[in-house]
Amino acid sequence: MHEFDLKNDSLSRIRVVLVNTSHPGNIGAAARAMLTMGVSRLVLVNPKHFPAAEAVAMASGADSVLAQAQIVTTLPEALSGCVWAAGFSARPREFAGRVFSVRDMAEVAAGILYKRENDIALVFGTEMSGLSNEDLARCSAVVTIPANMQYSSLNLAAAVQVATYEIRTTLLSNKVWQPPRFAPASHEEIERLFVHAQRTLTQSGFLNPKRPKRLMPRLRRLFVRAGLEKEEVNILRGILAQMDRLMKCTDDIE
Ligand code: SAH
Repeated sequence: MHEFDLKNDSLSRIRVVLVNTSHPGNIGAAARAMLTMGVSRLVLVNPKHFPAAEAVAMASGADSVLAQAQIVTTLPEALSGCVWAAGFSARPREFAGRVFSVRDMAEVAAGILYKRENDIALVFGTEMSGLSNEDLARCSAVVTIPANMQYSSLNLAAAVQVATYEIRTTLLSNKVWQPPRFAPASHEEIERLFVHAQRTLTQSGFLNPKRPKRLMPRLRRLFVRAGLEKEEVNILRGILAQMDRLMKCTDDIE
């Protein structure tokens, strides 16, 4: 069997992020699922038990993925440097941005991986309750595996398998040329824009901290959905800075 022609290093720019996983066996099984699809970057946000013998046992030879796994305490840390993040949820959510089926997600992800040098993340929730709405709000899109509506919750590692399989097969079949794209903004750059916007909007009186309504969550949703380029973030920050100057707000914000 020969290795497929997978253009550039696309697969190595996929991060699988598991948030608050309870069972180490699931982490091991997820590592195995990833490696069968050629994906090896695993990031664990606050795993309950890790490292663990049960994880190694379930990884069944994919221990290299576990050995290199990065452990962090918050989702923003896990997403650091990523330009796009897909949050996986079986259940419909009140405040989801754009919702993709896992196959449509693979098209979007492959498009980014083909054209750019940046990382993307696939984010999965905890076994009991899935991803929190707050975590989902940090993702660029919500992704669902269109399972049986009466029994839709896959095992965590099974969900990782489906996600990485879809991306792999899409990358293998996607052989068309793509127009050039401008550099996308990173997760941190969008976060800094968000903080800056919050401050300027508060100072201008548009955002009332006592009655914030849903302004900031909605703006966050707009920013992540837009897939902002670096230049676009600079323009928006420039507009805010000009407003700050007009309001004589001198504290610099990074
Ligand atoms: N009981 C949880 C689901 C836990 S399954 C809930 O109600 O949300 C663990 C994780 O696997 C989920 O957080 C999600 O990231 C992923 N997952 C499981 N089934 C899925 C599906 N049908 N579509 C998308 N993601 C799914």
